[in-house]
Amino acid sequence: MKMRPDTAAIRLQADRSGYGEHAVPIYATSGYVFDTAGDAAAAFSGELDHPLYGRFDNPNTDEFAARIAHLEGTETAIATASGMRAIFTSVLGLLRAGDHVVASYQVFGSTLSMMKEFLPRWGIETTLVDLTDLDAWERACRDTTRMFVLETPSNPGLETVDIAALAGIAHQRGILLNVDNCFATPALQRPAEMGADIVVHSATKFIDGQGRVLGGAVATSAEIMERIMPFYRTTGPTMSAFNAWILSRSLETLTIRMEKHSATAQILAERLQDLAGAGAHSDARSGGIGAVKYPGLETYPQFDLAKRQMRLPGALLTVEVGDAADSAMAFMDRLQIISRSVNLGDTRTIATHPYSTTHSKLPPELKTRLGITPSLVRLSVGLEDPEDLWEDISQALG
Ligand SMILES: *Cc1c(COP(=O)(O)O)cnc(C)c1O
Repeated sequence: MKMRPDTAAIRLQADRSGYGEHAVPIYATSGYVFDTAGDAAAAFSGELDHPLYGRFDNPNTDEFAARIAHLEGTETAIATASGMRAIFTSVLGLLRAGDHVVASYQVFGSTLSMMKEFLPRWGIETTLVDLTDLDAWERACRDTTRMFVLETPSNPGLETVDIAALAGIAHQRGILLNVDNCFATPALQRPAEMGADIVVHSATKFIDGQGRVLGGAVATSAEIMERIMPFYRTTGPTMSAFNAWILSRSLETLTIRMEKHSATAQILAERLQDLAGAGAHSDARSGGIGAVKYPGLETYPQFDLAKRQMRLPGALLTVEVGDAADSAMAFMDRLQIISRSVNLGDTRTIATHPYSTTHSKLPPELKTRLGITPSLVRLSVGLEDPEDLWEDISQALG
């Protein structure tokens, strides 16, 4: 039976071991046995469908990949040990020396380092453009441009780009569109339906959603995967069976978690904006609230686009507290329930000060362009009772 994504995320599973267990076991094995030497030969020549070796095949890892492909609406997917390995595999598996990449500078810090520090070692150059400036993407294209790389919404500026419009620009020139869908997850946004050729994930964030394991995925067409596969098999970015088992179970609750994350983030964003508007905490030095940014607020600069492109606005919001790093950090220190951390995508709400942590090493002018001010606090809204979160935020604002 053809299954809708939420059903497939639960019911599409690895073969069971034969004991009649309802849950899929963890296949902790590095190798596989063959009934005959001939079977081994046939498996290696591709005539027999049989797992070969743990770097290529594992029932748990394959289950996770199949579920991701179903959720993203792509023909196929592979699982990787981390989000960075997914991004690296999707780029290095497809590009070669002399190729050119255009990417938004609003990408994850390690993705930026990969493009600026490492890809040039292999002769691959990257031009960085503003995520939301479609003309800039077009202007940056060269005859050798092979791939666009981006995240939407971005971190921590929460900027959105029109995926379908960008796909149009890319495809006119035979360029592949590679979208990191980590923030929205396929529960809220499906880039492949809007024209993305490749969708990459850090499963470490909302897909696990419980802050336990690292993982990643690349979802794409069968044709593109055939080009990536030799690189994947040779370089070994494989996800472990244990992590795949955890993450496959996580996918079963992804949609309901993202719905709850979004609903609570909407409540908190609206209340923070009301407070900011009322000027109730307008004394900036003592920690008053400035701009609140959340794709679900009508004041969000790309509200219509976000609404069209995402089913719900997601778990991330940012708020300016006071007018300096001191006021933002003092607010964070007063939080009693919300965690001070640099991660995101957890059941536990997390407050982050990007200026002094995740984005501290960026040049000052880039921080300014990305909207990473000293007073900016990023909240990754969790699954706690919204009223407790609001009480915590209120008391910390003083
Ligand atoms: C965390 C993150 C990554 C990297 O993922 P890891 O699992 O830490 O390797 C990539 N992209 C985005 C948007 C992220 O938030």
